[in-house]
Amino acid sequence: LERLTRPRIPVVWRVGTVVGTVQETPRAKTLQVEVPGWPGHVAGQSVDIRLTADDGYQAQRSYSIGSAPAPGRLELTVEEIEDGEVSPYLVEELGPGDPLELRGPIGGQFTWMPEDGGPLLLVAGGSGLVPLMSMLRHRAAERADVETHVLVSVRRLEELFYREELAGLDADVHITLTRERPDGWTGFDRRVDSELLRAAGMTHRDGAVVFICGSNPFVEAAAAALVPLGHTLQDIRTERFGPSGGV
Ligand SMILES: Cc1cc2nc3c(=O)[nH]c(=O)nc-3n(C[C@H](O)[C@H](O)[C@H](O)COP(=O)(O)OP(=O)(O)OC[C@H]3O[C@@H](n4cnc5c(N)ncnc54)[C@H](O)[C@@H]3O)c2cc1C
Repeated sequence: LERLTRPRIPVVWRVGTVVGTVQETPRAKTLQVEVPGWPGHVAGQSVDIRLTADDGYQAQRSYSIGSAPAPGRLELTVEEIEDGEVSPYLVEELGPGDPLELRGPIGGQFTWMPEDGGPLLLVAGGSGLVPLMSMLRHRAAERADVETHVLVSVRRLEELFYREELAGLDADVHITLTRERPDGWTGFDRRVDSELLRAAGMTHRDGAVVFICGSNPFVEAAAAALVPLGHTLQDIRTERFGPSGGV
């Protein structure tokens, strides 16, 4: 009921301007965008991006908002998909001063605010960390004292977004590297399973809400592995980014 009473924000196309970029990994870039009239968002929500070619051809994709809620500006982190139609343009071509057409914020069930409480259990596969980072940044900005556990699965350390920021968070953060580990790595070293989720603090308890985000196979595997830990469909929320993936 509480979610239904959140204010409704009109979703219209707006033209923002890229004001800065951050190279997060060799294949991923954060776009900092100023958007006149942007109302802000709830952590977990996304935008639609629309590209228009000179001949009028248009392509549209969804991207989660990674920044904490703020009026007038937002950040996206886009991972380049080889041979993709939209992501290579966003990562390689777009730069400061360029316009970017977007609409949003979009999405209702995959959202969290500090007043929603916790324990907050966040499970990310690769770029699925983006909307979860918005939740973590909002929690940090509000100094919300909500018990929080984070598990991020990536193939190799170089593919982890927001590495330093994650390390500095006042939260229980775990990384699993599924393909390659640096020498001396002491974190997890395999794909998510129930035992790994348990060790990362993801066991069910009263009030717990789990957010899982990543590729379809990642989300399926993580959700199934949470059931033996006492979770039910009511406390698992999922966001699926794409058709494939290997983390
Ligand atoms: C709600 C939502 C939020 C999203 N948020 C983000 C985000 O924050 N950051 C981000 O980088 N992406 C995000 N995505 C994925 C994004 O919308 C695009 O699907 C992705 O950027 C690929 O688009 P493309 O045009 O480059 O590739 P396409 O031309 O659409 O596809 C090229 C090839 O790549 C495959 N493919 C498509 N998407 C993926 C994927 N995600 N992973 C692996 N293979 C894929 C296709 O099957 C196809 O074979 C989100 C998706 C959704 C639905």
